[in-house]
Amino acid sequence: MLYGSIEAGGTKFVCAIANEHLEITERVSFPTTVPEETMKQVIAFFEQYKNELAAIGVGSFGPIDIHQDSKTYGYITSTPKLAWQNFDFVGTLKKVFDIPITWTTDVNAAAYGEYVFGQGKGLSSVVYYTVGTGIGGGAIQEDQFIEGFSHPEMGHMLVVPHPDDNFKGNCPFHGNCLEGMAAGPAIEARAGKKGQDIPADDPVWEIEASYIAQCAYNTTLLFSPDVIIFGGGVMKQRHMVEKVHRAFEELLNNYVKTPKIENYIVTPSLEDDAGTFGCLALAKKADLHVN
Ligand code: ADP
Ligand code: ZN
Repeated sequence: MLYGSIEAGGTKFVCAIANEHLEITERVSFPTTVPEETMKQVIAFFEQYKNELAAIGVGSFGPIDIHQDSKTYGYITSTPKLAWQNFDFVGTLKKVFDIPITWTTDVNAAAYGEYVFGQGKGLSSVVYYTVGTGIGGGAIQEDQFIEGFSHPEMGHMLVVPHPDDNFKGNCPFHGNCLEGMAAGPAIEARAGKKGQDIPADDPVWEIEASYIAQCAYNTTLLFSPDVIIFGGGVMKQRHMVEKVHRAFEELLNNYVKTPKIENYIVTPSLEDDAGTFGCLALAKKADLHVN
């Protein structure tokens, strides 16, 4: 019995196979080009295991249609990546693999990975953000994703500009939303170089921390979760989490008593594997549900 994982990202796809204990036995990666090419590689990879494959979990870039009763369930919808607009992702897989296929956003998948195996293990309510090329968020309550007419788009919450920041924000929809002010490309546009090349003592990180802290503040007041996890490339700056703690405590001003800050606002313990483990755990859950 094997489980498959597809992490469909805007720049690359990562596919993995795991055994029933969710130990990864093989993993491959392909660049995200056009569906005809990339999906062919995905299908060829899983076809090797067709006889033993019990379920596949997909975590996809979006926006995606997650409504089971919708005609376009399983599609990537209005993505800026033109070749993938209105692409029937789940349908394409189902034609070849007649097994349960779970379908959620890439950030929900990472949130689920951390919920089952990482910083959310044993907790009932987890919110996860990725701060990378964009900012996305996913929330889980008692093993279910929080969603309504669609999946959340928490990365586009509005933030109040830092007094020392004259950058106007680069989200094409909202300007100074969190993604527009604090994702990797915003850091680069403000500083003239990529985040990974900016030293830890540069004042840009205090500005960055103030936006991430506003996100943690909003998240705290909206969900009162047990933990808030910040992952993604930008959070590889290990000094950031402490700056966020300070800015968050100042903002919250003891209005509510959160869990101890070091255990409350954290970075992912699965690092870059959160999405893959989340997809695998979702695949296993779907398999157990039908059998
Ligand atoms: P993606 O969001 O594309 O899946 P990442 O989470 O790695 O991938 O995010 C990429 C963004 O994060 C880029 O804007 C990059 O400049 C920034 N980034 C990557 N590594 C670091 C780092 N060590 N420090 C700060 N920023 C980083
Ligand atoms: Zn926005």
